[in-house]
Amino acid sequence: MNPIDQAAEWILASRRLVVFTGAGLSTESGIPDFRSPGGVWSRYDPADFDFQNFLASEASREKYWQLATEMYAAIRPARPNAAHQAVYELDRLGKLAAVITQNIDGLHERAGHAPEKIIELHGTALHVTCLQCGKRYERDEIQQRLEQGIKSPVCDDCGGPLKPATISFGQAMPERETREAYRLSSLADLFMVIGSSLVVQPAASLPLAAKRSGARLVIINRDPTPYDDLADLVIPGSAGPILSSLVERVKERLKDQR
Ligand code: NAD
Repeated sequence: MNPIDQAAEWILASRRLVVFTGAGLSTESGIPDFRSPGGVWSRYDPADFDFQNFLASEASREKYWQLATEMYAAIRPARPNAAHQAVYELDRLGKLAAVITQNIDGLHERAGHAPEKIIELHGTALHVTCLQCGKRYERDEIQQRLEQGIKSPVCDDCGGPLKPATISFGQAMPERETREAYRLSSLADLFMVIGSSLVVQPAASLPLAAKRSGARLVIINRDPTPYDDLADLVIPGSAGPILSSLVERVKERLKDQR
């Protein structure tokens, strides 16, 4: 059986499909990933973006906001692509238990899912929070301040440092989302990884948790991942075209069944 047909059969048979996505899902929307050639980490040093450094020095905060501004310039105009739409189509067909995403771009929600269906494991770039009092701001409001020349914005209420509501290296994972992601992964009977290098921990341990609890594991990614040997099926290539064909196949089979 060809891999698309195989994955489609597993989706049809599945009762708890969990889709786990990474930056590779959004490259076709024009948002660069981190680890592909030309990705963010080929131009910035990840050590500069450690959370402890952000807390410790004004120079680090300024550098962080510089990278964050570059990322946001790509995120703000981005629209969901064929891959986001295909994942939403699975939801519409009643075939999706949840999306767990490492992405911070809000594109799954914009594709149409109810917010409750989406676990944003690494937060969102669409909001900013004060690290001192927790006050939350719209990202656009803070971005305007940066455009006016402020290099590292502070809270209106308490003067504390503001940071995009995303999770940096060295920063604690959000409790509720992490707990929920492990719960959903261990309940899954089919776990599909799409567009992730599977090297960022603890997120990358979710496929392992799913597999240990008996789920089938499917990986759709352009480059090899450390979990390919563990997977029941690996479909190498671009997420948009692969997922579009996959969803078409699922729909055809659903029609046949009627
Ligand atoms: P990563 O950059 O480590 O890996 C991306 C993977 O996607 C690569 O293995 C690459 O081969 C693959 N890929 C790229 N384009 C693809 C495509 N069109 N189709 C299929 N595969 C494709 O990304 P990651 O594993 O998500 O980890 C990076 C971290 O950085 C995440 O925690 C995330 O929070 C953050 N990040 C988010 C965004 C975003 O929100 N769009 C963008 C960059 C980074």
